[in-house]
Amino acid sequence: MISVVVPVFNEVENLPEAWRELSRVLEDTGEPWEILFVDDGSTDGSFDILKRLHEEHPDRVRVLRFIRNFGKTAALTAAFRRARGEIIITIDADLQEDPAHIREFLQKIREEGYHLVSGWRKKRQDPPSKTLPSRLFNLVVRTTTGVPLHDFNCGFKAYRREVVENIRLYGEFHRFIPVLAAWKGFRVTEIPVRHRPRRRGKSKFGWKRMIHGYIDFVSVYLLTRFLKRPMHLFGGVGSLLFLAGLAINAYLSFEKIVFHRGLGYRPLLLLGVLLTLSGLQLLVVGLLGEMLRYHHYDPRDEYVLEQELL
Ligand code: UDP
Ligand code: MG
Repeated sequence: MISVVVPVFNEVENLPEAWRELSRVLEDTGEPWEILFVDDGSTDGSFDILKRLHEEHPDRVRVLRFIRNFGKTAALTAAFRRARGEIIITIDADLQEDPAHIREFLQKIREEGYHLVSGWRKKRQDPPSKTLPSRLFNLVVRTTTGVPLHDFNCGFKAYRREVVENIRLYGEFHRFIPVLAAWKGFRVTEIPVRHRPRRRGKSKFGWKRMIHGYIDFVSVYLLTRFLKRPMHLFGGVGSLLFLAGLAINAYLSFEKIVFHRGLGYRPLLLLGVLLTLSGLQLLVVGLLGEMLRYHHYDPRDEYVLEQELL
């Protein structure tokens, strides 16, 4: 089965068209399918339309409604947990990406063995205030993480079920799904998709996304590198600083005791104290990291199986 997940936040004008187009494309695949709409706290009557769709097509349309707006990441997470399909496809309700590409997504997964296929809005139909920052974002994420995508944040993606079962999304991490998936070992690729301007309704993400995107990027970057071994980051740097400080202080003490050289006026003393203290602090942060890992131990965080011959 194919599950299509559509996050919806105040998209009342787009929903009828989205349903028509999606259901047609899905019907054409000749496979069993369902659509999960997640109403992320809409206040414009989106839910009434979704409710009607569900009543008209109870076996096709499933609807979740949040009590308030929790954000796109939350919407996707909620739907991932309930999706029944072996393949899960996400697409934005404004259908800026052409759903006709679904066939190609399926093919990439089934015939070429990819776990995640991400859309690439090659000719993006958005204002430059959006596309320029986005280019920078994609360049930075691509070069630092080594995941070779051009468009991380495209809402149109297809996943094998294992992917959504094995990644943890919170905050606004939907922008980094390919990074989190690749980090778990999943094979990630992209295909160019036709992009169109938003026809109706308003874009929900303004300039704030840049700041959030940057902060989240730092988190994701460090998480994917050091989550499993916090001590390797904090312990390593911490020990180095601590030992350097210790050496400086030992040298100063030696001169004081053997040569009776006063140390109160020496800047080196300040450096020595600073290094020992900051080193110690980093070590303790690393220890806290390890304690968190220990107490929240979950084998699913440790590995992903490719196959099982038992
Ligand atoms: N969306 C959501 N919750 C939010 C913001 C957006 O579910 O808090 C949905 C929105 O309804 C749309 C998708 O996420 O289906 C992408 O939003 P939008 O088209 O505004 O983003 P853009 O294309 O401008 O990047
Ligand atoms: Mg859009």
